Amino acid sequence: MINRRSLLAASAAAGAAAPALFAEAHAQTAAKPIFQVAQTTIPIVGMAETFPVRRIYCIGRNYAAHAREMGSDPTREPPFFFQKPTDAIQYVAPGAVGENPYPSLTKNYHYEVELVAALKSGGRDIPMEKALDHVYGYALGLDMTRRDLQRGMGDQKKPWEIGKSFDKSAPIGPIHPLAKTGHFTKGAISLAVNGNEKQKADLQFMIWSVAEQIAKLSEAFELMAGDIIYSGTPENVGPVVVGDVIVCKLEGLPDLSVKII
Ligand code: MN
Repeated sequence: MINRRSLLAASAAAGAAAPALFAEAHAQTAAKPIFQVAQTTIPIVGMAETFPVRRIYCIGRNYAAHAREMGSDPTREPPFFFQKPTDAIQYVAPGAVGENPYPSLTKNYHYEVELVAALKSGGRDIPMEKALDHVYGYALGLDMTRRDLQRGMGDQKKPWEIGKSFDKSAPIGPIHPLAKTGHFTKGAISLAVNGNEKQKADLQFMIWSVAEQIAKLSEAFELMAGDIIYSGTPENVGPVVVGDVIVCKLEGLPDLSVKII
């Protein structure tokens, strides 16, 4: 790992310009930021404290039937991940109906219901057998997607961030501490639009379990407390329009409801 002293020595030897060093030195002072930036938090059931969100990871194509509908081969190819910005979180309390604005630039706004795992600790290269030790709890979430933009960018071999990582693209219910729910390895997950069931599956049909997702993610990134992982959606994703009401269900958690406005 590069430490500050070796970086200083290396750049002095190379006669390197100083911006990176200056930024690093500056970060170590107690200087106040010029303005405050909000920390995203999610309420925790039964707790006065909230869960601070560090990063939002999402796994793609994690149910075989969904992988097929997205045009890929659902054989066990390595999982892939993307991120949403932390402030894409839109918290919706149980019993409430969150108002989710139809986003700009799209004509094909899709729902994806997903189990979300919230981490209390992390690390690098976490073995699968230890992976679930890092889970603090679980929530029910929606990975809202501008499908036309996601597809269009994918077709052009460009990053599909604009299709996934936009404002309020991550509605989520409260986090349920593990002690109250246990781990989620099976159980019915479903989504209805205006009372008509659209998605219905069981968590046991995930290609990569939450434990495997944590292990695989930790090979690519150092996971930390505050990271949350959207664990993928089952088949039958589809569009919503303004006025539609989405109700998500996961066995063992309260429903998550969102209205498109
Ligand atoms: Mn998804």
